[in-house]
Amino acid sequence: MTDARDSDAIAHNVQSVLHSIRRAADRVGRRSDTIRLIAVTKSVSVSGIRHAIAAGVRLFGENRLQEAIPKIASFGPEAGLSWHFIGRLQRRKVRSVVGAFAMIHSVDSLELAAEVNRRAEEAGACQEILLEVNIGGESSKAGFSLPAVVDALPVLDSMSHLSVKGLMAVPPPTLEAESARPYFRRLSELARSLSHANLRRIRMDELSMGMSNDYEVAVEEGATFVRVGSAIFGPRAL
Ligand SMILES: *Cc1c(COP(=O)(O)O)cnc(C)c1O
Repeated sequence: MTDARDSDAIAHNVQSVLHSIRRAADRVGRRSDTIRLIAVTKSVSVSGIRHAIAAGVRLFGENRLQEAIPKIASFGPEAGLSWHFIGRLQRRKVRSVVGAFAMIHSVDSLELAAEVNRRAEEAGACQEILLEVNIGGESSKAGFSLPAVVDALPVLDSMSHLSVKGLMAVPPPTLEAESARPYFRRLSELARSLSHANLRRIRMDELSMGMSNDYEVAVEEGATFVRVGSAIFGPRAL
């Protein structure tokens, strides 16, 4: 499936995405080292992941647990990779996610947060998470509503095995990257306003937003993690 040409193409794509991130950061006077690229490897083979590692990528995002677990297992801890869970998470699968992933971006309810906290406690760990916000108010989409995330914070703050780092969102799909800008801005503003809340443990430093077609706009609006799949690995076969 993957051959030398894929390796060249992936290396080229990684460099071009990193270059675009730097340019977007420059446009708004941000330091580009505050933005981390997560290569999204759903449906990408282990050899495709190896090509990305060879190109310097260390952060990877997966959204299907069954697919992710064997991939993660094929790279030892010495590889120095950091895996991020970015997909819909069912409560009964939380136990397998805690510990295997450095960060869960898709915590979309208090019930799920409580389960992550419980499993992290069992594992003697503290799990880093982001709160997924349904920034477009779409009925088809998971995530905290804006008012719900405000209400959830004091409860989350008391969950001692969670480390809330910030917010994540997937805006409504659009053809034009520019159309996503108001949603990214709203998420940024929400994080800024929440960071003034008087909470002990919760941080709002991280903003996970922007995918292949709109990550440059997301960087302009404050993203600290961009989640890029097809711009690196090519279109996904379904
Ligand atoms: C698939 C996926 C991505 C990457 O999408 P691309 O358009 O291929 O860059 C980012 N975030 C989430 C949550 C995803 O499921």
